[in-house]
Amino acid sequence: MRKKIIAGNWKMNMTRSEAASFIEGLSGKLNTKDRDVVFCVPFTDIFTALSALAGKGVYVGAQNMHYEDSGAFTGEISAAMLTDAGVTHVIIGHSERRQYFGETDETVNKKVHKAINAGLTPILCVGESLAQRESGITEEIVRMQTKMALLNVAKEGVMKTVIAYEPIWAIGTGRTATDEQAQEACASIRRAVAGLYGEDAADAIRIQYGGSVNAGNAAALFGMPDIDGGLVGGASIKNDFAQIVNYDSKG
Ligand code: PEP
Repeated sequence: MRKKIIAGNWKMNMTRSEAASFIEGLSGKLNTKDRDVVFCVPFTDIFTALSALAGKGVYVGAQNMHYEDSGAFTGEISAAMLTDAGVTHVIIGHSERRQYFGETDETVNKKVHKAINAGLTPILCVGESLAQRESGITEEIVRMQTKMALLNVAKEGVMKTVIAYEPIWAIGTGRTATDEQAQEACASIRRAVAGLYGEDAADAIRIQYGGSVNAGNAAALFGMPDIDGGLVGGASIKNDFAQIVNYDSKG
């Protein structure tokens, strides 16, 4: 049985004071007993989030990192800086980073290696564009992105990785993949992992759905057999996030 994992991607939102009051309103309301909950916050909110969430059983993640250890990379953050700060998870290869900041399958692969070596849990994002879906190549795209991101990554690292299937056309658009579309893509990703690493790795790896998840659709999406939780953007900075995290897993 895979433990569900629900992560919020705050994106470029929340000053420290906003973060502190948001978390204060929410943190006692989150079910963390049978599911992992992660707040992926801007770098400047990491310490605020960690102290506001202390003892609540919620993880704090980052939204990006560089693949080099240190050096002349102005504006970047290293894996060691994140672990030293107390971060446990890091989003890698989000479509907004691929689209606006030139991330490629190659840099994503380097980041996955670095995160795993540093002891961080990568939340690796893959997903097709609308044009790719309409051309009928969703499966090929997500399988290829998965394989390229995991190139030469050792099996034990892969088993700890979280993959977020995020169709680009569903991110921030209010247009959610149907439960069946999301299930189908997540199952394809799992089959790609099985082909590379075997059934035990495929059974262990957690695959989230992301793309306009809200309090109304979370339970049905997260209840699909190959969907192990969600990566939540817009709704993660609203009180709805508690309802998403607390979705009824039996319903
Ligand atoms: C995301 O940014 O990862 C995301 C899924 O955003 P949203 O939930 O707003 O679609």
